[in-house]
Amino acid sequence: MSHQVLLLPGDGIGPEVVAQARRVLDAVADRFELVVALDEANLGGGAIDREGAAYPESTQAKARAADAILLGAVGGPKWDGLPSGDRPERGLLAIRADLDLFANLRPAILFPQLAAASSLKAELVAGLDILIVRELTGGIYFGEPRGIRTRDDGQREGFNTYVYSESEIERIARLAFELAGKRGGRVTSVDKANVLEVTQLWREIVSGLACDYPDVALEHMYVDNAAMQLVRAPKQFDVLVTGNIFGDILSDTAAMLTGSIGMLPSASLNADSRGLYEPVHGSAPDIAGQDRANPLATILSVAMLLRYSLDAPEAAAAVEQAVAHVLDAGLRTADIAAPGEQAVGTRAMGDAVIDALQAKGGKG
Ligand code: NAD
Repeated sequence: MSHQVLLLPGDGIGPEVVAQARRVLDAVADRFELVVALDEANLGGGAIDREGAAYPESTQAKARAADAILLGAVGGPKWDGLPSGDRPERGLLAIRADLDLFANLRPAILFPQLAAASSLKAELVAGLDILIVRELTGGIYFGEPRGIRTRDDGQREGFNTYVYSESEIERIARLAFELAGKRGGRVTSVDKANVLEVTQLWREIVSGLACDYPDVALEHMYVDNAAMQLVRAPKQFDVLVTGNIFGDILSDTAAMLTGSIGMLPSASLNADSRGLYEPVHGSAPDIAGQDRANPLATILSVAMLLRYSLDAPEAAAAVEQAVAHVLDAGLRTADIAAPGEQAVGTRAMGDAVIDALQAKGGKG
């Protein structure tokens, strides 16, 4: 079976890191005999320049046909003067909405070799491996009515609506249970059920599903406590599932536990497990074109793509092991190098990951 993978290199360091990720994807496909058909399209600032829109129709057609999409990053100073509706970042929102990518998966993994980079004590975070599953297309960010209005007493007030339907809660919760079943077997559902009715319903629905997943242990936690526990003892978590706004905040907190933005992959999935995979970082215009970007977040996004959209868990694990191997060997790009430590460039890091993948050829 051939898998269609669409590459959207984007702007800034996007093309540099996607180029390395593409080489890794080719190498791992070769090793595991996966048939992957690669195509490429424009998204973001380059798409505005070349095709007049951040998410042009040609990209849309390819994205809808793809099994998985690998994105670099979009945006940069060249387009900062455009009105907000015309900026490169609009392309990202448009593709997420177009493909109904309702689940955002943000692993916070800290390779033990990089534990010193965290703002927390090394023993609290070394070996950290948690997965935050955030609902991405509902909740208070999208609820209606919303706006700013003037009250009878002349004061203005802002208002938003925090709303989740049973089916929206059920689909994200089921995904979290299924993912936990393939990992550590634990789900922590984060809510504010002591105050917000919408999250009382959230808790009720999530609890009701637990009997369908007897091998997964479910616990509930209020969001304020979850925030505290994430910085107190983050290794207690396996999979955290939560709504859009809480997930937004908690996933950034968890990301910072790992110390480097250049190491963090992400996935956004729809109901058919088709997905958009991208590093958490942006287009880093300050280092673009200098062979200084860390390609590992994008390479680890390839691992997620293999696992979640191509159903190739062994290939995914091989990519992750190859990354661990190069870190063990002491290779560091500038963003993860300790002071005084020699840094390698983007391409050299890609070379090293491919060498590690190929060196392990026979071991599956
Ligand atoms: P950024 O993530 O691009 O950069 C923040 C800092 O981290 C910079 O110092 C950068 O050099 C460094 N950095 C980021 N990725 C790195 C990597 N792989 N290796 C080494 N260092 C890395 O965030 P920003 O500076 O706030 O935004 C720059 C542009 O990116 C803006 O136009 C913004 O809108 C866009 N952006 C895009 C996305 C996306 O495409 N998903 C996400 C965030 C920001």
